[in-house]
Amino acid sequence: MNMPNHTMEYYWDHKAKGLCVWCDRKAVPGRTRCEYHRQQMSKFNATQCEKRHREGRCISCGWPMHDEMDRGHVKCVTCRMQAMRRRIPYENTRTVCSE
Ligand SMILES: [Zn+2]
Ligand SMILES: [Zn+2]
Repeated sequence: MNMPNHTMEYYWDHKAKGLCVWCDRKAVPGRTRCEYHRQQMSKFNATQCEKRHREGRCISCGWPMHDEMDRGHVKCVTCRMQAMRRRIPYENTRTVCSE
């Protein structure tokens, strides 16, 4: 998938008007993208996530997982720490390839 190469002005202008930041459609309420691009994005994320998971990498940042430290996890220690700091429930850090 190719990401549109829009300027920051385009982004902020569309965001302010409640339009998708990638096209001129109306954005999903509370989101920055329209329904179409939201789906494209989540498809893209799922594909990337599955690929990383298969290759034994962190699904979040793509860093190679540590054999011992990261055993049984889907995210590397850095991403797990970040989730902890942001108070994301531990269970959510184990979810594979969700949006
Ligand atoms: Zn769009
Ligand atoms: Zn990571």
